[in-house]
Amino acid sequence: MNLRKKEYTYHCIECGRLTKTLHEIFYGTADRKRSIELALQVPLCDECHTRIHCHATKGEGKAFQKKWIEWLGQDYEAVKHQMQLSKLNHNFVVGIRKKNIDKIKNLVYIL
Ligand SMILES: [Zn+2]
Ligand SMILES: [Zn+2]
Repeated sequence: MNLRKKEYTYHCIECGRLTKTLHEIFYGTADRKRSIELALQVPLCDECHTRIHCHATKGEGKAFQKKWIEWLGQDYEAVKHQMQLSKLNHNFVVGIRKKNIDKIKNLVYIL
């Protein structure tokens, strides 16, 4: 499963509407790249995506990050720690990617 190609339709993690957009849980140039590497991504419909990017306060944004990381089955503090390292730990990347992709698959909409 290649999450970067827009070949899947998902259910929005927030409202269930159908979408092709994957939102990177940590964003801003460097963090966004890391999010993709770690498959820290969740499907969001356009409405939820705009709402969260444009209207969420810093505190609300953090709460969403925590909620989604826990939804992916990951430990929020452990993930935050990795995000702060100058270089990602290879074993961590390998372990987390597979698990996250397996979880994200649960939101794929099958025609
Ligand atoms: Zn939505
Ligand atoms: Zn986004």
